[in-house]
Amino acid sequence: MRIGLYPGTFDPVTLGHVDIIQRAMALVDRLVIGVAINRDKGPLFTLDERVAMIEAECAAITAKTGGEIIVHPFENLLIDCARDVGATLILRGLRAVADFEYEFQMVGMNRALDSSIETVFMMADARRQAIASKLVKEIARLGGDVSKFVTPPVVVALKAKFG
Ligand code: ADP
Repeated sequence: MRIGLYPGTFDPVTLGHVDIIQRAMALVDRLVIGVAINRDKGPLFTLDERVAMIEAECAAITAKTGGEIIVHPFENLLIDCARDVGATLILRGLRAVADFEYEFQMVGMNRALDSSIETVFMMADARRQAIASKLVKEIARLGGDVSKFVTPPVVVALKAKFG
């Protein structure tokens, strides 16, 4: 049984994340979505809200594709989280060259901590590559339309946050 861990902040989950999750399902038997508590990043949504939103997206995905997705909040080291859930793969999305340097360092450090866990990168569909939670929040805060970037329940959640 191949278990993959897809970690992130998911503040909030976007169509970019959904695209990566769908692609990841073709690579693993069980996908664990690691929702990082990430207090330092000062998330807009609470951990419970982020988990609930991503669980709703995953239910819709598995209803279509089958397979198993588990949403797992974590606060410890990524590599320890991977070990805790039995993952042999860490899955990450790459958006642009800007993501590369940070991810490059992360792979190096994580490999030094545990060389048995491999990191795999995926790119979203061209229409979804530019989507970033940070910009979605900025657009929603300024009253813009985010319906091209997130699913309807997330549009509603963003409206509720920003009034
Ligand atoms: P983090 O705080 O770990 O960057 P994010 O929730 O921003 O958490 O992203 C989680 C993962 O999803 C990261 O690997 C990120 O590169 C990837 N990702 C986010 N948006 C996209 C997108 N539009 N296309 C491809 N990958 C994406």
